[in-house]
Amino acid sequence: MKRRTFLSLGAAAGTATLVANPSLTQAIRTKPARIIVLGAGFSGLSAALKLHDAKTDFVVLESRNRVGGRVFTHVLDDANDLRVELGAEWVGRSHEEVQKLCKRFDIELFNNQFETDLLFRGSYQPSDQWEYSEEWKKRFEEILKNFKNLSDAQQRELDNMDWWRFLVNNGIPENDLFLRELLDSTDFGESIRHVSGFSALSEYAESSKKNEMDFKMKGGNGTLARKIAEHIGSDKIKLGYHVEAIEQKNGKVKVICTNGETFEADRLICTIPTFSLSKIKFTPALPKEKINAINALQYARINKHAVLFSERFWGREDFDLITDTSAHYFYHATKNQPAKSGALISYSIGEKADVFGWNDDHLRKQMVLESLRPLARAEDYFRKEVNYYWGSDHYSKGSYAVYGKGQWFSIRPILAAKFLNIHFAGEHIADWQGFMEGAVATGAEAAEAALA
Ligand SMILES: Cc1cc2nc3c(=O)[nH]c(=O)nc-3n(C[C@H](O)[C@H](O)[C@H](O)COP(=O)(O)OP(=O)(O)OC[C@H]3O[C@@H](n4cnc5c(N)ncnc54)[C@H](O)[C@@H]3O)c2cc1C
Repeated sequence: MKRRTFLSLGAAAGTATLVANPSLTQAIRTKPARIIVLGAGFSGLSAALKLHDAKTDFVVLESRNRVGGRVFTHVLDDANDLRVELGAEWVGRSHEEVQKLCKRFDIELFNNQFETDLLFRGSYQPSDQWEYSEEWKKRFEEILKNFKNLSDAQQRELDNMDWWRFLVNNGIPENDLFLRELLDSTDFGESIRHVSGFSALSEYAESSKKNEMDFKMKGGNGTLARKIAEHIGSDKIKLGYHVEAIEQKNGKVKVICTNGETFEADRLICTIPTFSLSKIKFTPALPKEKINAINALQYARINKHAVLFSERFWGREDFDLITDTSAHYFYHATKNQPAKSGALISYSIGEKADVFGWNDDHLRKQMVLESLRPLARAEDYFRKEVNYYWGSDHYSKGSYAVYGKGQWFSIRPILAAKFLNIHFAGEHIADWQGFMEGAVATGAEAAEAALA
């Protein structure tokens, strides 16, 4: 989400400082000789790359045994080297920082746009045979156009209501509302009844035509993580290092890992999701308002169920399908990867994602095949499946942050504020929140702030 309007309000969230008590205000600021980066997702890697470019001494500590975090490319078909994304999928047309990195590391971006079919109330409608009502299309255009004219007070008012309420208050016809619920909830990972009206409107008013569902990296999005890590050097990235405690004393930051190793530095850049953050013991403790903000923020439940089929029976490479079934949203996950076989991903959100996540592959397969029934007897082509339920992810317990009513303007600046010599970064506090772009941008910004 591109909320430049918010940044221009002058909140300067990334540079604000939170302190637990007045005696701690004197964080000793010297030019940092060494910096620790916590997390090797896109945010941590982006911070590390900046530090590498600046020739500063640093180390990255990552709990998983791989880099990339919520960017997670999986080889589904070894024989044909078909890769699917179990985490982040699309690179947006407006996502300049990610595109710059792809250029720097020589990664081709493929078109990954789709034309959406609809399965609604048992009726299958190809992409060119359904749309919003003329009345609503016209009204929504006006709403989008008006976004840039909203005053600060109006933006905050919008943040205080959910997206569903905003649409209803703006007279959306019921059928259009049902369609928006199905489609928009794929963007936020939860029902539109849980999403801040400001978060939603800013996303739709300022995103590309296809709502940033534009490109994908050749070889999978994980390629970028791997290439950055190779460039930085594996000696700088310690995998399998789970941080459990952080101490700040005399202007130094000390990090303690569960394997007993400790690291000391002048600054720390913390890029981990809030669930992981809440598990770390901080000395001195994080300020109460930061703890409250961490506890207030929810992450969206998304389940990705990728199924490999022996043939691409859906017919067209740019196939996707929104449904009102539990499988929710399907898209062709192997577009631009030539082979006879191919994969569809069922991408479900909220309680539908729970249903997928809680059940076993047998039931998941049934739900997927049943949802595809109007299209084909998909079981005839079934080869294998893989599931990832982000609601259970050990580190984030969700896919990405979902800002609810009133939260964007209240808790986001608190989450972003530095604490003594700790700078915060990550998708959850980004202008482009919920995207790789946000992770990359905040990582780079935190590195610049830490170096200053
Ligand atoms: C299902 C799904 C779909 C998505 N779709 C898109 C999309 O289409 N386009 C898009 O741009 N974005 C998408 N995203 C969002 C994108 O993946 C994230 O915004 C981005 O990857 C987050 O990066 P990050 O560095 O902020 O966090 P992370 O990737 O979570 O990195 C944080 C790292 O910290 C590590 N860590 C946590 N705790 C500790 C600890 N105590 N000690 C050491 N290490 C720790 C974690 O293992 C992790 O590797 C999607 C995400 C998901 C899950």
